[in-house]
Amino acid sequence: MKTTHTHRGHCQACGAIQAIDNTTGLLAKHGYRVAGFGYFMGVCPGAGHQSLEKERAYTDFIIADMRRLAAEYAQHALDLTAGKIHPDTVDTGVRDDSNPNVPIWKRPTIRVPFAQGTEYQQKRAVELAVSAAERESRAHNVHGDMLAKLAADIYGKDTLPVKTKEPPARIYDGLKFNGGAKA
Ligand SMILES: [Zn+2]
Repeated sequence: MKTTHTHRGHCQACGAIQAIDNTTGLLAKHGYRVAGFGYFMGVCPGAGHQSLEKERAYTDFIIADMRRLAAEYAQHALDLTAGKIHPDTVDTGVRDDSNPNVPIWKRPTIRVPFAQGTEYQQKRAVELAVSAAERESRAHNVHGDMLAKLAADIYGKDTLPVKTKEPPARIYDGLKFNGGAKA
């Protein structure tokens, strides 16, 4: 079978360099490359779009979406800090030994509804939720900033022949979300 990818281009959504399908001229399917950040799960939403070299409308949409979500997470952190909202549960720190089949090192700690927590447990739960929301806010802004800079550099340029050397894909730390690798 002859190769179907002779060129590569930057993905409008994740910013990584990916293969372009010769037949459609659109980016081939690829996994997301943004480590541990909930927005991109599974197949990157940039697959099936033009590369950023050819078009930036989808990138502009993603940038706007990153800004909107970053602002929502930032507001969420503020509301938690102000006590307007609170996490659903608190961690009691007590190991759950109810299922003897679970190895001891894998047993979770018991969580109870927020209202049933001690003052200390509630305070700790709020602190953790605030820092998680702040990290998410930052991760969305970082991705938006990266895409904005990339679009300014890349849009309108030629796509790359497959043999071109490229820098390694950008991977940065975000938040563990939906079963990410970090514990
Ligand atoms: Zn992508």
